[in-house]
Amino acid sequence: MKINQFVIIGLGRFGSSLARELIELGYDVLGIDKDEEVVQDLSQVLTHAVTAESTDEEVLRSLGVRNFDCGVVAIGDDIQASILTAILLKDLGVKKVVAKAMTELHGRVLEKIGVDRVVYPERDMGIRVAHQLVSPNLLDYIELSKDYTIAELAVPKCLSGVSLQDLNARARFGCSIVAINKPKGIIIAPTGNDVLTEKDVMVIIGTNQQIEEFEDSVI
Ligand code: ADP
Repeated sequence: MKINQFVIIGLGRFGSSLARELIELGYDVLGIDKDEEVVQDLSQVLTHAVTAESTDEEVLRSLGVRNFDCGVVAIGDDIQASILTAILLKDLGVKKVVAKAMTELHGRVLEKIGVDRVVYPERDMGIRVAHQLVSPNLLDYIELSKDYTIAELAVPKCLSGVSLQDLNARARFGCSIVAINKPKGIIIAPTGNDVLTEKDVMVIIGTNQQIEEFEDSVI
């Protein structure tokens, strides 16, 4: 399902940043917040911005939220309002409902009432920053499962001029370099003859342990 129209409820730090980015990406966004000042600040940016109490079913109905492809509940601190809003969006028939959770328990309740995706922005960003702090060359990563990760690593000076054949990552550490992002463009599925340079970013796949060993030994 291609999502075109978003309704974002709660325009605090997370909700407003999400809303601004979706607008930048060319999507329609209706923003709802009970705080008039917050709505005023975003009224020129969003497709529509409305001051309203999102726990009022009639209000959500009159705003036509059921016609939106995706609803995001970005209310954090007021857990009761977050849960009530999420259940109303589901009941009104919004196709995809995403909600921000402040704690694991809050997240579990949101899942139980049928929220399609629960996000934990503060927790996830804390984990991400911790990984980047202990591994300075790590630019980004995606956890594929509990054990497997895809990591983007900045190529350090010591690997500049080294070919993938010489690096021999698969035989030495068991992890594979699946792409090299060079200033001129990305090489997908590079061969042994491809050479790393300092401005490159290598995309590596393996277990967490293999990637850690790779980083400790060669970077
Ligand atoms: P953040 O940490 O992302 O800033 P907050 O919980 O501080 O998140 O902010 C959430 C926003 O949601 C606030 O702007 C607040 O006014 C709004 N909000 C909270 N409860 C409701 C509600 N029942 N209806 C509409 N907006 C709400």
